[in-house]
Amino acid sequence: MKQISIRLKITLWYTVTLVVMVLFTCFIVFFVSNQILQKTVRDNLIEAIEHNVDEIEYFPNLQALEETNDVDHYIQYQDGYLEIDDDFLNQVNEVYTSLYRSEDAALLYGENPISKETAELPFANSQVQKIKVDGTLYYIFDRMLTREGLQGLYLRGVVSELQGKGQMTDIVRISMVLLPALVLLSIFGGYWIAGRMLRPIHRLSQMASQIEKGGDLKKRIDIGKGNDELHQLADRFNAMFGRLDEAFEAERQFASDASHELRTPMSVITAQCEYLLEKQRSAEEYEQSLRVIQRQSNKMAGLIRDMLDFARLEARADSYARERVDLSELVRSLCTDLALIAENGITLKAEVEAGVICVGNRELLSRLLTNLVSNAYRYGKENGHILVKLMQEGGRIALSVCDDGIGIAKEEQSKIFRRFYQADNSRSSAGTGLGLAMAYEIAQFHGGALSVESELGKGSVFTLQLPGLEDNAPENP
Ligand code: ADP
Repeated sequence: MKQISIRLKITLWYTVTLVVMVLFTCFIVFFVSNQILQKTVRDNLIEAIEHNVDEIEYFPNLQALEETNDVDHYIQYQDGYLEIDDDFLNQVNEVYTSLYRSEDAALLYGENPISKETAELPFANSQVQKIKVDGTLYYIFDRMLTREGLQGLYLRGVVSELQGKGQMTDIVRISMVLLPALVLLSIFGGYWIAGRMLRPIHRLSQMASQIEKGGDLKKRIDIGKGNDELHQLADRFNAMFGRLDEAFEAERQFASDASHELRTPMSVITAQCEYLLEKQRSAEEYEQSLRVIQRQSNKMAGLIRDMLDFARLEARADSYARERVDLSELVRSLCTDLALIAENGITLKAEVEAGVICVGNRELLSRLLTNLVSNAYRYGKENGHILVKLMQEGGRIALSVCDDGIGIAKEEQSKIFRRFYQADNSRSSAGTGLGLAMAYEIAQFHGGALSVESELGKGSVFTLQLPGLEDNAPENP
């Protein structure tokens, strides 16, 4: 069953349902119709006999009979005569009517197709009796005549159940042809419609496999216009390809940026080595070159460390455990350490609200704050100030690092969070261009956001917004 296509499965499912429903309906219809028809046959029998009751009249003598001028048929009975209307023999609805004398069950007039078989059947006034002759069921209705002179007479009506069956056979015959034809029609129709409905899925899978084989994530699935589930699925696929494409593109960019960033210090080191080895140099020249080599090696080491951290955070973000972090305590102790840097005479102050707790990773949050404060030192002015503020407002936590340093131009503010991006103000700095990108990733990891407000020459404020404890996801076990 698993190998069968969805189209066939749908068709098989509703074919079985349809056939069961049709059979069930047929059974109900035939059963009920049969009941109704048999009742109609019995009603017709009773009606015909009741009608014929008035077709018989008694006349005490022949003279009185002849005076009526309307003699169809007459029979001598007891001391007088019975006058019987012609209609008596009309087999309305195939009902046979016969007139019997009850005392000896003698047939006086009329027709009874099963007179032999019913000879022994006692008369039962106004009752329908049943008798089976040669496998056929007959209904018999007896009516005692009570009018004056007619005492001792019975009218007996006989009708075969086949009279109703005849009509029934027609219904069955028509149904036998019509219903299978309709079922077949709806099976083929359904198979065709299922095929049409599933065509976009087929297209979708074909295009997805084309994209997968060709490896071109820029291609998109196109199944025409529409807004049904399949079009929504195609949109989701396209969005997924878009994201994959972006991710691969970012990966490619990262690899190319990384090799570019590493190449620069590498070529400086190589050039310095070649310069030193070219000929005998003075002690000062050696020292100077070695310092350049040391600086560039440090830069490379920093780059490699940052890149590895970055890769770890991106690839295995879930390997960083989330726990309850007392942010107030963390920020306070970090600021105490970072204030010791006191580079360029810059002083660091911290305003920390007590009891601010979040769910996150201690190591990553420390890294983020360290990156922001390091930048504030690096891009700060001589004898400048850094203010680190932590506060909680309406369930949201805000951690900001404010400096009065060189600031960032408006047009560069949106770019500084990109990997390896370094603004014009820092071209000669010892940074790697990865610090803020890392901080941005860390903010996202915590379900928060990192933003900047800055004015060139006046300073910058970097703010991390974090969800408070109640908004956070539950802690990792
Ligand atoms: P870097 O290692 O170059 O500092 P970052 O990713 O940390 O890289 O920062 C990206 C760029 O943003 C920096 O090169 C610098 O131009 C700018 N920047 C970051 N922090 C500040 C700041 N506090 N003041 C001025 N410019 C800053």
